[in-house]
Amino acid sequence: MSIVTRFAPSPTGRLHAGNLRTALFNWCLARGAGGRFLLRAEDTDATREGEGDLEQQLADLAWFGLDWDAGPDRDGPGGPFRQSARGEIYREYLGQLAESGHAYTCYRTDEELRRRRAELRRQGLPPRYDRAWAELPHAEVVRRRESGQLPAIRFAAPATGEIAWEDLVRGRRALPATEISDFVLARSGGAPGFLFANALDDALMGVTHVLRGEDHLVNTARQLVILEALGLAAPRYGHMPLLAGPDGVKLSKRTGATSCGEFRAAGLLPLALANTLARLGHPWEEHGLMSMQQLAAGFDPGNLTTSAQRFDPAQLGHWQRLALDALDDEALARWAGE
Ligand code: GLU
Repeated sequence: MSIVTRFAPSPTGRLHAGNLRTALFNWCLARGAGGRFLLRAEDTDATREGEGDLEQQLADLAWFGLDWDAGPDRDGPGGPFRQSARGEIYREYLGQLAESGHAYTCYRTDEELRRRRAELRRQGLPPRYDRAWAELPHAEVVRRRESGQLPAIRFAAPATGEIAWEDLVRGRRALPATEISDFVLARSGGAPGFLFANALDDALMGVTHVLRGEDHLVNTARQLVILEALGLAAPRYGHMPLLAGPDGVKLSKRTGATSCGEFRAAGLLPLALANTLARLGHPWEEHGLMSMQQLAAGFDPGNLTTSAQRFDPAQLGHWQRLALDALDDEALARWAGE
């Protein structure tokens, strides 16, 4: 089987070290096996996208040393690689799920759902969506529809059993079906939700392996049931510990993690960054500076650790010195003049 991996950022703001590490490991997994690496822009929420964010992210990934076989800037089999251009595809597969009884429309408003959750919490119950409560009398559905209210589309999740998979990093994982409840496939108004669009795209794009943060563990269970209902092959998922900053707080745009743009502006060499990030959670035999090809050849997701990793920009200095030493005169002159 030929390996196909991807990196699927939402184009909101610049990438940070955590994003780059995920992209790097997926790239290594594909390139080390002579497989394909794809980029996909998860841009279903147009309101969050800033002007030029996508172009900037692509430029940052290219600067970092990654190349991709297909992406938003280069079409290929399974494309287009921008979710905002895949509306027809989502509609078709939502229709298929509705026909087979795996999806249904829900006319409860966000406000009603919010109040219901508060009520459950007050009763000491888990604040989960419950299907029986969400079902409205037929006349009420008709009234809401006629008043122009648009329904959300939800997945009819299995009520019993468990969802299990062989995680590329953590071995066998299983979650009781009761953990996943009837999640949203498409929001009222029709925009596809993350769980649905992301899983469907992976399957249709032929993605075989997905390495992503452990914050997606429950999502994986949900995505496996979506793909099973559609009769599509799921990728193998692997969940890595999230990257935290020196203070132990998860890196994120919101908490002001240093962006790729700031690293670039500071004159950091991409290979110094790649060597620093590659060493967070993956053991290597080589202790010196490795080229991108060496990183790809030596990467094995089964060797990723499950313990939390901290990224401290102070670690960059060591690798920057080695990366500078490795530059030839011409490259050094270019770097100095940048
Ligand atoms: N767009 C998602 C994110 O940035 C992708 C998650 C995934 O890799 O599946 O979190």
